[in-house]
Amino acid sequence: MTLALTGTGVMSGVAVGPAHLLIRSELEIQEYQVPDDAREQEVERFQSALGEARRHLQALADRLRRTAGSGAEEIIRTHLHMLDDAVIADDTESTILEQGCNAEWALQMQLEHIVAEFRSLDDEYIRSREEDVIQVVRLLQRTLSEAAEAGDAHESSLKLNGTIVVARELTPGDVALLSEQEVAGLVVARGSAHSHSAILARSLRLPMIVGIPSALRILQENEPLILDGHYGAVFATDDETIQRHYHQKQRKSRRYRLSLDQYREHDCITRDGIKVELQANAERGDEIAEALNCGIQAVGLYRSEFLFTQDQLPDEETQYGYYRKAVEHAGGKPVTIRTLDLGADKAWGPARQLISGSNPALGLRALRLCLRQPEMFREQLRAILRASADGPVRVLIPMLTHPAEMQSVRRILAQCREELDKRGQAYDSNLPVGGMIEVPAAAMAIDHFSESLDFLSLGTNDLIQYLLAADRVDDQVAHLYNPLHPAVIRLLGDALQSAAECGVPMAVCGELAGDARYTRLLLALGLRVFSMHPSYLLEVKRTIIETDVSVARQHLDSLPEQPDNLSPEQWLARLNGKLH
Ligand code: PEP
Ligand code: MG
Repeated sequence: MTLALTGTGVMSGVAVGPAHLLIRSELEIQEYQVPDDAREQEVERFQSALGEARRHLQALADRLRRTAGSGAEEIIRTHLHMLDDAVIADDTESTILEQGCNAEWALQMQLEHIVAEFRSLDDEYIRSREEDVIQVVRLLQRTLSEAAEAGDAHESSLKLNGTIVVARELTPGDVALLSEQEVAGLVVARGSAHSHSAILARSLRLPMIVGIPSALRILQENEPLILDGHYGAVFATDDETIQRHYHQKQRKSRRYRLSLDQYREHDCITRDGIKVELQANAERGDEIAEALNCGIQAVGLYRSEFLFTQDQLPDEETQYGYYRKAVEHAGGKPVTIRTLDLGADKAWGPARQLISGSNPALGLRALRLCLRQPEMFREQLRAILRASADGPVRVLIPMLTHPAEMQSVRRILAQCREELDKRGQAYDSNLPVGGMIEVPAAAMAIDHFSESLDFLSLGTNDLIQYLLAADRVDDQVAHLYNPLHPAVIRLLGDALQSAAECGVPMAVCGELAGDARYTRLLLALGLRVFSMHPSYLLEVKRTIIETDVSVARQHLDSLPEQPDNLSPEQWLARLNGKLH
């Protein structure tokens, strides 16, 4: 017999294995009154749960940084910083002290208050992350209740290796832990394909399907399951023909990943002979090594935010140590170090104190923050300059909006050079300075920036969010965040053309550059430098090698006519032919 359940596939790929139902008892929230003289003690119990949850997430973030890269780590850090948000930490404490509620109850009241007030809260950051807030509060409540029932059997003690885990909901932390236990796939009753848990599953290459509300009710423990991430379907079946079909598909997909290895040594040249440069978005030594193995020409994006996660700002010496290491790992290839881009959804560590304003994505973020904190900015620029004496380095300025901002950057850079001269410390006096194009105004006025910049890097993650007014981390508007919107395609094409006319090389370093479905489109639009996470390099390289840009360009020219009333997605599929 075959039973098929459908939801939304988060990542294509096939998983086969026995079901493991992750049935967590719905957390029963204890509600009781705490006597006046025990309230301080209850606050201590709450503080200790906060500390425990913080340590748990911190350890997870550190591990993820090593195993899954900085993108995955950032997702956990988002939760880590929510733990310390006043709405959760301070207000819960006040409820315990003032109303005498036990900690779990006080948290529950706080959660209900946040959810009810979501639309009117002026903390934009919290407001946009309802699902995350619920997960963080649940983590705290579980930590409190597990401490009460010491020794509660934890899933980590079970053998989950090779199973397909079926759960009601999963936090990013759960996804990370399950991946460490080498589960084969995930089926989740709730959640969306754009949630942080889903993003994490994608970066861990873990097949996952979300949005099957009946999954836990219908599927049985240990029954053989097949998960088809492409179609968003789960099959519970003993039908041998279906099983054989999926085993074959699984082998094919494994073979495909292995076959990509042959492209490591290939030159990155299109069918019609156009040379394309590959760069990597990488910070860790092993990421840089993997990228070099795929034939990159440079580290195109070294995000420096991870250095700024503690409440203490990292000093020049600490930063220099990290940058120098990256330069060593890159073995003579240029390393593009981006100056601090804190703010908006990356509002952690010191940024929480430095940033105010009711609309963080449009407020003091990235360069705007650095120009407000010139001492902090100088310290970072001096560290980058010093690293440039150890090997080729380029500096990249995020969130450029006004051409005048570059004059300030140039002036501060000149001061930094003078300071290093006085100290007698070496640096590359021709250090290339680049700018990130991620604000639509900058994308439309490339010619006004080209004079003051040696290179450009277009960040599609932010450019799309600002162009379409759709928060890049808000699941509720994820359907609007569409790279195939005609305005996105037009702006990308215009910006690439404008950069070429000005003679300034432009890379794309947003997620789009690493998504092979968009490679042909970007080539047709004129992109010649792609920068991406190392795990995407070979698939993109293969797509480049198998593309005839002149044919892709003809296809692009047909876009406005929408032949046969194709949807943009169908149009893209036709452009890609049989490739993906
Ligand atoms: C981007 O915005 O596309 C980008 C690469 O920067 P980040 O994702 O770090 O904001
Ligand atoms: Mg950005």
